[in-house]
Amino acid sequence: MNDTFRHKGLRKILVDEIRSKGISDINVLNAISHVPRHLFMDNAFVQFAYQDKAFPIGCDQTISQPYTVAFQTQLLRVENHDKVLEVGTGSGYQSAVLKHLKADVYTIERQKDLFQKTQSFLPSIGYKCRFFYGDGYVGLSQFAPFDKILITCGAPEIPSLLLSQLKHGGRMVAPIGSGKVQIMKMIDKDMNGEVTISDHGNFSFVPMLSDKSSS
Ligand code: SAH
Repeated sequence: MNDTFRHKGLRKILVDEIRSKGISDINVLNAISHVPRHLFMDNAFVQFAYQDKAFPIGCDQTISQPYTVAFQTQLLRVENHDKVLEVGTGSGYQSAVLKHLKADVYTIERQKDLFQKTQSFLPSIGYKCRFFYGDGYVGLSQFAPFDKILITCGAPEIPSLLLSQLKHGGRMVAPIGSGKVQIMKMIDKDMNGEVTISDHGNFSFVPMLSDKSSS
C-alpha cells in the first residue's frame, strides 16, 4: 500500500480542518487520520484526496466529503463490535472509517461496478466488511437487527424497512429530503421500540435511488 509520510502529513492537516469545523470525537478524528483516502479516489482526482470535499468516483457517484463522513460517524456513536448497516458503499471510504472504530460492517451498494470494485479493493488494504449488491431500501432482513444504520445517500423519507431492522436501543443516521439539500436526521429507537427523531443540519448527498433500472 502506497501511504507515505507526505500522505500522513496531509491527513493531519485534514484532521485539524475538520476539528476546527466542530468534530470533537477523538476516535472519529483518529480514524480520519489513519484511513488513506488517496487510495479511494478516482485517478483523475487523486491529488485532491486530502481536500475536505466530495469528488466523483464514477457511475455518477461521489466519495463523501471527509467532514460529512466524520459528522455522520460522530452522530452514530459506534461502539466496539456494533453491527452496522451502511447504505451506499460507494468508494468504501466510510466503511473503512467504521472498521477503524471496530464495527462489524455490512454495506450495500446498488451500482454493480462500484460494488465489485470496492468489494475487492477494501479487503486488499485490510478492511474486511460484508459487501452486498442490492437495494438499500430493502436492507438486509436476514442479518437484522442492527445496532446502527447509516445511510450515505439522500433518501426522500426514512425508509420504513430499514427502521424495522434497527434494534431496540439502536440508532440510525440518515440525510432525509428529496431536493438538492437534505436534513441530517438522528433516529433513536428506545428499548420499547419508541422512535425519537432529531435534526442535525443541512447536507447535500447524491440521491438514494430505489430500483437499479432508474440510474
Ligand atoms: N459511503 C460512500 C458514499 C458514496 S455516495 C463513500 O464513502 O464513498 C452514495 C452511494 O449510495 C452511491 O455509491 C450510490 O450508488 C449508492 N446508492 C444510492 N441509492 C442506493 C440504494 N437504494 N441502495 C444502495 N446504495 C445506493
